[in-house]
Amino acid sequence: MIIVGGGQAGLTAARAALAAGLRPVVLHAGAEPVGSWPDYYDSLTLFSPARYCSLPGMVFDGGEADRYPARDEVVTYLRHYAKSIDADIRTRARVAAVQPRPDGGFLVRTDTGEEVSAAGVVAASGSFGNPYLPPLPGRDGFAGELRHVAHYRRPEPYAGKRVVVVGAGNSAVQVAHEIAPHATVTLATRAPIQFVPQRIRGRDVHHWLRVTGVDRLPRSVLARLVRHAAVLDTGVYRDAIATGLVDRRDMFTALTPDGVIWADGSAEPVDAVILATGYRPDLGYLAPLGALKRGVPRHAAGVSTTHPGLGYLGLEFQRTFSSNTLRGVGRDATHVITALAAQLSGGGWRHRRARDTAHRSDAVRH
Ligand SMILES: Cc1cc2nc3c(=O)[nH]c(=O)nc-3n(C[C@H](O)[C@H](O)[C@H](O)COP(=O)(O)OP(=O)(O)OC[C@H]3O[C@@H](n4cnc5c(N)ncnc54)[C@H](O)[C@@H]3O)c2cc1C
Repeated sequence: MIIVGGGQAGLTAARAALAAGLRPVVLHAGAEPVGSWPDYYDSLTLFSPARYCSLPGMVFDGGEADRYPARDEVVTYLRHYAKSIDADIRTRARVAAVQPRPDGGFLVRTDTGEEVSAAGVVAASGSFGNPYLPPLPGRDGFAGELRHVAHYRRPEPYAGKRVVVVGAGNSAVQVAHEIAPHATVTLATRAPIQFVPQRIRGRDVHHWLRVTGVDRLPRSVLARLVRHAAVLDTGVYRDAIATGLVDRRDMFTALTPDGVIWADGSAEPVDAVILATGYRPDLGYLAPLGALKRGVPRHAAGVSTTHPGLGYLGLEFQRTFSSNTLRGVGRDATHVITALAAQLSGGGWRHRRARDTAHRSDAVRH
């Protein structure tokens, strides 16, 4: 079985695959199997306390369980986690295309020209590599700095500048708040920001998500409940907006060559616009397979509805509210791998799995 991506999703998939008697090969684009965490902005502190950051089989320790870990703690944790898994993990191996094999199963090609045959594929490549840029009027003519928050690292380069951050989620609010002491910042949103208290009755909100069962609500129920992005807040972000440290305004209507036009029609020069406008699944390598519809995977709870033997992990709301988090991805991995293992061992897939196993030792052809 080939697993595309060596982040928390790919690593938990590999662990679950081993437990199911499969022998996974993880193909990971980066130099180390620690997912996208090293590329997140420098000051990132997790929104989830350490006690809710463990993946199956290894406790996220190293300190107080109620602390909010820093980005680099996750990198260290994933490094240890990868070493603890007895799987073939190949780094600097970016998957360029997955194609159907005429006799069944998949042919996986990397960008260095390697080819790997596999009966099963798990797409666990995250979304950080596919930032969403909304079609803003005037975008192409804007001469200032326009970047997605995926490429934001630290506030110092914005010192003394006029900055607009677009978005109403955690990243938008955190980045606007971080830049505010250095620059004049406006947070531009389509609707007022929805805040969710980080702590309720003395306990972190993740405690309540777990005990109330919200964390495990199925996608169909969630879609009705969660309609807008929400920002976890201890009160610091709400205060920053209330006191004007961070100016919140309705979304601008257009970009001009040197700034923005606000909803009231006024124009203002702006040095930089940071788009915290989300991500889309980074699955272009599945296009040759026909597994996507307008870039979106067709699946039920992570199991492809187009190709037996193909699964997904780490998609937002894949099965539950916690699917794309450290605390939730392990449950999904068990679900998806169990389903794929059944597909591969049942019916017409039995011989493919046997053949895949037989060829495994020389599966990579140069
Ligand atoms: C700013 C931010 C803060 C977050 N904070 C938290 C938090 O506090 N708590 C929490 O639980 N979750 C948090 N998350 C959500 C989630 O846990 C992370 O996004 C996490 O990195 C997702 O893991 P993943 O394995 O699904 O994807 P990734 O971490 O993106 O890993 C996928 C890997 O696949 C590789 N890849 C991509 N394409 C290919 C290819 N074609 N071939 C081979 N390899 C490929 C990529 O290089 C990448 O390293 C946060 C997310 C963001 C963006």
